Amino acid sequence: MFHVKQDILITRKYCPVCGNDSLKQHSVIKDYFLTRKEFSISQCKECNFLFTNPYPDESVISDYYRSDSYFSHPKSGFSIFSFVYNLIRRYNIKNKYRVVTDGIKVGNVLDIGCGSGDFLNFCKEKNWNISGVEPNTEAREFASKRIGKEIFQPNQQKYFKSHSFDLITLWHVLEHIDDLDMQFDEIRRLLKKSGRLVIALPNYKSYDAVFYGNTWAAWDVPRHLHHFDKSTISLLAKRHGFILQRSLPMVWDAFYVSLLSEKYRNSRLYPLKAFLNGCKSNNKAKKSQEYSSLIYIFTPENID
Ligand SMILES: [Zn+2]
Repeated sequence: MFHVKQDILITRKYCPVCGNDSLKQHSVIKDYFLTRKEFSISQCKECNFLFTNPYPDESVISDYYRSDSYFSHPKSGFSIFSFVYNLIRRYNIKNKYRVVTDGIKVGNVLDIGCGSGDFLNFCKEKNWNISGVEPNTEAREFASKRIGKEIFQPNQQKYFKSHSFDLITLWHVLEHIDDLDMQFDEIRRLLKKSGRLVIALPNYKSYDAVFYGNTWAAWDVPRHLHHFDKSTISLLAKRHGFILQRSLPMVWDAFYVSLLSEKYRNSRLYPLKAFLNGCKSNNKAKKSQEYSSLIYIFTPENID
């Protein structure tokens, strides 16, 4: 078990999505991934947004990411496992690419929180002009080397030229970002008026989330500071001048999140149970559209 030496916690008095000060406690969730510490989740009484509150200050948050398994890299070496792992990984990225670039020609893409550069690397192969931002030093250096281009730190986003990107993507990243307004303002500045914004997020209204309850792995406190559903991400985006065009399922996430959740529960036969719950979650979502994770596609509102 890993201990954070000295925690510094910040309490929010206002909802980060609508600004209302009327909040209630929603739940208390344990950090099963690393520290086993408990964190509260607050709910806004106005817009129902859920957020981890209080949450670790940026000066200590990196302590909560100190694990070999948080940043996934392509597996090297030769084994059946790495072969299958890389195959699924490749299929996943191909699918993401196909979905988010549907109907647009190649152009400039910015991946915010690009990790080890999987998505950017694929875009590069398809002749996109790629840019990336990543806070984790190890992942950033790995990605830079791999794609042969400098990946920037989040505070360097301000040096990108205004209205220079056709596509901006955040793959399971927005839930980690402390200042949502600042990030959205930056995206609004960077995206072309004809551009597309893609945000992938876990969905606590999915069947797997409801089934696993407090042990649902995608609560992932305190690394996940924000917990969105379709209505709250739409509301936040709308406040910053973006219109939701469509949402799309990420079917693999139901299996992956179920697998982690079963592990947190120390279940016997956990791969089997996870597989069955993943199937059930995807199946139920065909009707409800509440998939384990969703890809939201936004376009800028034309106000001028
Ligand atoms: Zn609110």
